[in-house]
Amino acid sequence: MPKLRIKFDKKTCIGNKACMAVDSERWVNSEDKVDLVGGEKINENIYVLEKEFNEEESKIVIEGAEVCPVNAIGIVNVDSGEEIVKVEVSEEESKVVEASYDDEKEFQLDEKGYFLIKVNRENKKIEVAFCEKPNEISLTVKGDNPLEIYQTIINKEKLEIRKDHYAYLGRELQKAYTALRENIEYVQDDELDFSNKV
Ligand code: SF4
Repeated sequence: MPKLRIKFDKKTCIGNKACMAVDSERWVNSEDKVDLVGGEKINENIYVLEKEFNEEESKIVIEGAEVCPVNAIGIVNVDSGEEIVKVEVSEEESKVVEASYDDEKEFQLDEKGYFLIKVNRENKKIEVAFCEKPNEISLTVKGDNPLEIYQTIINKEKLEIRKDHYAYLGRELQKAYTALRENIEYVQDDELDFSNKV
C-alpha cells in the first residue's frame, strides 16, 4: 500500500470544490474553501496528511489533487520521494521581506578602495577606474557594456571588494550604459535625468 503525503495550501484554494466532487473522503466544505480531513496544520495556510492508501484510494486521492485548477494540492509518494502532483504554495510559506535601507545612516565606505566611472562618448565606451588609495588609480577597465566590464573586474582581475560594492558597481555601470545609449548626462551616484540630453 503506498504511503502518500497530501499537502494543501488553503490560501491558494479558490473554493471551486472540484476536489470534493472527486474525493469526498478527503475534502469537505469550509465556507468558501475546503478542508483536508485529518490534515495537520503546519503553518498559517498549509495542511499536511500522511497516510497509507490502498491502490483504489490512491487513484482517487491523486485525481482529487489533479483536478485542482490552481494546484493547491500536492501529492508525494513518501517511500519513493516521487512528486506525483506538484503544489503551488502561496508566498507565506517562503520568506518574504520588505526591503529597507537608509543610505545616510547605513552607508559604509569600502576600505579596499573606490570606483571612478565615466562614459567616453567618442569611442562609446564605459571606463571604470579603481583607486586603492585616494587619487591613485590602480586599475582601469574599458568596455562596451556592463556585463563584460564587471565580469572582467570580478573574474579576471579578481578585485577583492565587498559584495555590496560589486552591487554598486553593477548599478552604476547600467546607469552609465543607459546614459551612453540615450545620449544623456551621466554623473556617478546621481539619478539619470532623461531630460538632460548631451
Ligand atoms: S479543487 Fe483546489 S481550488 Fe478547488 S476547492 Fe479543491 S483545493 Fe480548492
